[in-house]
Amino acid sequence: MNKNELEKIKQKALEEHIPIIMDDTLKVIEKELKNNPPKRILEIGTAVGYSAMCFSEFLDDDGCIDTIERDEERIEHAKINIKNVGVEDKINIYEGDAVEILPTLNEKYDMVFIDAAKGKYPFFLQQALRMINSNGIIFADNILYKGYVMSDYNKHKQRTAVRNLREYIKEVSENPELETEILEVGDGLAISRIR
Ligand code: SAH
Ligand code: MG
Repeated sequence: MNKNELEKIKQKALEEHIPIIMDDTLKVIEKELKNNPPKRILEIGTAVGYSAMCFSEFLDDDGCIDTIERDEERIEHAKINIKNVGVEDKINIYEGDAVEILPTLNEKYDMVFIDAAKGKYPFFLQQALRMINSNGIIFADNILYKGYVMSDYNKHKQRTAVRNLREYIKEVSENPELETEILEVGDGLAISRIR
């Protein structure tokens, strides 16, 4: 993989305010992947492909990533980026709304990375649980959403997002099949291991 190119893509995304995974968050996930290389990863929210390309380095032999994105312009950028970095044989993009695409998937995944519409996190969790392998791992990025989720924040147009992120945390915490940690890295990361 062309790491120089990946770094350039990262810088460009940052300049253009595309919400790519933060360094601290990536570090935590990479440590998990290193210890336990996954065969199949499902990502919800590709943007321009940055996180998927980072994860692809840690795949087990012949492993692959399915990633979902609905924004046409970002999909075009992601395709070009993935080609330029040389990982096009490892990453498959599903184009469209994850809410419609997820129920049509029937693969088993070792890792799911949830990083899309915050108001849909409980639905994404339900779909992730349906497809995750035993001893798989589910990550949810931006779970603390600028601190709103753990504060008494209750107004504003982000209310639905905050309510659904709280719902996600409640569900993963109460599910006896999951062992969950909420980390304050980046914008907040939920890690749920299947017991
Ligand atoms: N994982 C990427 C960043 C993703 S940003 C990285 O770290 O590099 C979130 C992306 O999710 C945005 O590009 C947005 O268009 C997409 N998205 C949000 N809701 C979606 C949905 N319901 N279906 C598909 N994509 C969605
Ligand atoms: Mg994110």
